[in-house]
Amino acid sequence: PGHGGPDPGAIGIKGLRETDVVLDISLKVAQLLRSKGVRVSLTRKIDVDLDLPPRVTLANKVGANAFVSIHANATRTSRRDVNGIETFYFSGPRGLRLARNIQRELLRVTPKTSDRGVRRSRFFVIRRTTMPAVLVETGFITGKIDGPRLSTSSYRDKISFAIAKGILNYLRGKS
Ligand code: ZN
Repeated sequence: PGHGGPDPGAIGIKGLRETDVVLDISLKVAQLLRSKGVRVSLTRKIDVDLDLPPRVTLANKVGANAFVSIHANATRTSRRDVNGIETFYFSGPRGLRLARNIQRELLRVTPKTSDRGVRRSRFFVIRRTTMPAVLVETGFITGKIDGPRLSTSSYRDKISFAIAKGILNYLRGKS
């Protein structure tokens, strides 16, 4: 889960905070993966302050097969017309494959929002981790389509299910 503590991340419609949205989604993803026998390490389980380097250190230390950073997006000027899902990876065919699997499953459960695609990026947490790593943007909390949806538990459930399924597909070798 991205952000936490004094860093709430993006702030969306009706004060919706990215840190709360992504923690809820991440806890659900962890639960789903554990129910399928996957070992999960969370960088944070509560709303706590955590710098980027310790997140990377944890992932590298536990020898993770995959690193997934979960976020929600915002436009600086709170443009309500900007909505969509995107997944970033830094390098390598396995990082790309992990990103594609997650993006594909997310698009299945998010009709009417845009597919902003799988893209390369140099975000610290995906650049410095030693395993295939991605950063998922689960929608714009400032967007008129994504924002209200991300404020509901039922939609977060769908997002969590999709991310977990994408990770499972990746771990099972699906391209
Ligand atoms: Zn974020």
